[in-house]
Amino acid sequence: MSTYSAERIKLTTLGRWGLKSVKQRFQEKVYVDFDSGCWLWTAAQDGHGYGQMNVDGRPEKAYRVAYRLYVGEIPAGLSLDHLCRNRICVAPEHLEPVTLAENTRRQLDAVGHANDLKTHCRNGHPYSEENTLHVKTKVGTGVGRVCRICRAETTKRYRNKAAS
Ligand SMILES: [Zn+2]
Ligand SMILES: [Zn+2]
Repeated sequence: MSTYSAERIKLTTLGRWGLKSVKQRFQEKVYVDFDSGCWLWTAAQDGHGYGQMNVDGRPEKAYRVAYRLYVGEIPAGLSLDHLCRNRICVAPEHLEPVTLAENTRRQLDAVGHANDLKTHCRNGHPYSEENTLHVKTKVGTGVGRVCRICRAETTKRYRNKAAS
């Protein structure tokens, strides 16, 4: 299934060279945790805590190498999701090709567009220039709109409650 060929690599510090398959090199760097089923990467990591392995002289994500070695090509356009949420894990069974990021992004974009088209808040106040407060959000397009009238009323209610 794998598209990797054997590589000529340095076997010893004395400079003896030989052929080793990527799979062999991969397996030497993996520690299997039998409790979780995770294959823990014991070699280099990238800046985000993902395992990293040099293949054909280029650094590659170890979990991507794992998938290609044991499962097959990663479908174009899909990214591999760690089902176990353990970034250092390279177990092929814990990896699933998903379009989640893309889907999520599109869904949020769609919501953002729908909001842009709305001319009134849910209480019927107009989203006019004076009545609209633009706020930063943690999700979606990163910008949201708040109706000033509703906000003022919420604040008033909260103050009354706090005062009583
Ligand atoms: Zn895992
Ligand atoms: Zn309103």
